[in-house]
Amino acid sequence: MKDYPLVARNSRKEYQGNLKTLTFDIGRVKIGTEKPLIIAGPCTVHEREQTLENAQGIKEAGASLLRGGAYKPRTSPYSFQGLGKPALQILAEAREITELPFVTEVMDQKKVEEVGDYADIFQIGARNMQNFALLRDVGKYAAKQDKGVLLKTGFLPKLEEVLGAAEYLALEYDRAGKLPKIMICERGINQATETMRNTPRPEFLAELRQATYLPVIGDPSHSCGNRELVWDTALDYLRVGANGLLIDVIRDHEKPTIDGVDYCDYKQGLHMSVFAQKLKTIENYKIPQE
Ligand code: PEP
Ligand code: MN
Repeated sequence: MKDYPLVARNSRKEYQGNLKTLTFDIGRVKIGTEKPLIIAGPCTVHEREQTLENAQGIKEAGASLLRGGAYKPRTSPYSFQGLGKPALQILAEAREITELPFVTEVMDQKKVEEVGDYADIFQIGARNMQNFALLRDVGKYAAKQDKGVLLKTGFLPKLEEVLGAAEYLALEYDRAGKLPKIMICERGINQATETMRNTPRPEFLAELRQATYLPVIGDPSHSCGNRELVWDTALDYLRVGANGLLIDVIRDHEKPTIDGVDYCDYKQGLHMSVFAQKLKTIENYKIPQE
């Protein structure tokens, strides 16, 4: 695949003919190891206590990175749009307490610096996978400031479109003479079934794993959107070689509304105690490298 010289597996000798992954550091966290990387936390930061308790819980359960939305892409303009900067400050406080680096979405070129002031990893959401101007700006900033990027797959992407988007980011790291600290995250296609919000594509994750040497993460929460099915979907992703999982977690006592606002993506949040128990079952799991 000569069109993607910076992200294609076959463009790097050491990654040809195997399933080894690029490894890099985000703070003290090693990404791309043989252990699944667990990124977890609330879909969205609603308030301080919710976020701090969630962060502490996922840390105790064994997660390595915290997730949480500050700026949210919502279908309706009347839905909760995220707290913005105060959410970034809450996430930074959670990081101080737990020592977990965090990932949060940036949707707007004008907010790259603000989000980058706080976040360790930028999330590019599904809706922005091919927002090339945003990819360029985020890539530039991330490379310069030694941050990571988690690139989510779009609503119905072709393999080449995902690789192309990753290449936009990698180009900026390359120009800065830096390692491309990029992860790709399969989050399902935008097609609901009777039980699922979207449709997970573990087979697409497998294809991505073969096509790129960048770590590839599965998001069972947004892809299936139903907490009853989240863990089985997570196992499907691991079965095909996922380098990690991005999982929405809620506190055990979480209610569908918080401070009078609908809790974002409540239906797909795995309860903390379930999350902790499920993680134990994969404690010794190793990601195939061949
Ligand atoms: C999210 O992770 O909160 C999110 C909005 O994901 P996606 O872009 O995959 O819909
Ligand atoms: Mn969500």
